[in-house]
Amino acid sequence: VSCRETLHLLEAYVDGELGPEAALSVERHLRTCRRCSAEERALRALGATLRRHALPSTAPERAQARLRVRCAALIEPPREGLLHRHLPALPGVVALLLVALLAAAPARDVGQPGSSALVVYHISQAQTASGALRNLHNHLEAAPGIQVVVVAHNSGIDFLLRDARDETGALYEPAVRGLKSRGVEFRLCENTLARREIGRDRVIGEAVLVPSGVAEVIRLQSEEGYAYMKL
Ligand SMILES: [Zn+2]
Repeated sequence: VSCRETLHLLEAYVDGELGPEAALSVERHLRTCRRCSAEERALRALGATLRRHALPSTAPERAQARLRVRCAALIEPPREGLLHRHLPALPGVVALLLVALLAAAPARDVGQPGSSALVVYHISQAQTASGALRNLHNHLEAAPGIQVVVVAHNSGIDFLLRDARDETGALYEPAVRGLKSRGVEFRLCENTLARREIGRDRVIGEAVLVPSGVAEVIRLQSEEGYAYMKL
């Protein structure tokens, strides 16, 4: 299999969700390709970080209850068909966000107005971008003081390229610009650009390049206390 196919299957491989034949072909490729095996190590490190954050929380009951309400407000009912295949993962995402928020800020009273929370949105697939931006918009409405960084890698970078459009044909750039004007930062994986042979000049001006998207997600969590939201 090629690098592109390997990277496409890598998350499922790391999660043990591939069938034996596909897993074997990914394994063979990883043995011979340094770039893909570096990506595999980064993904496993990310998984380990998330498991550490998923320890039982000591946050006060009332703060937990408020967070539950807040998280429930993040998730819209399904509308477009493209979102349907990701729906089974949504309750998991909510739970993950909840435990990550609680673990990242156990002493902070997140329910107080004006308090800030840090969240990294991780977008790794092109088809989840429009749903992610919608969630992000709702998130900012529900929690105006929140600081959000969007990290895009693999096909998840597509919405940050010039003239990219969502499934309704609308350009992504105005939506990205609007979110940026509200303080959201967009960071894009340089490894992905190199691997897919996409020139930097195709990236819209609102996005900032980082060497590795996965490494950036890990750094924001482990060094800066960001909660993690996978989309
Ligand atoms: Zn490779």
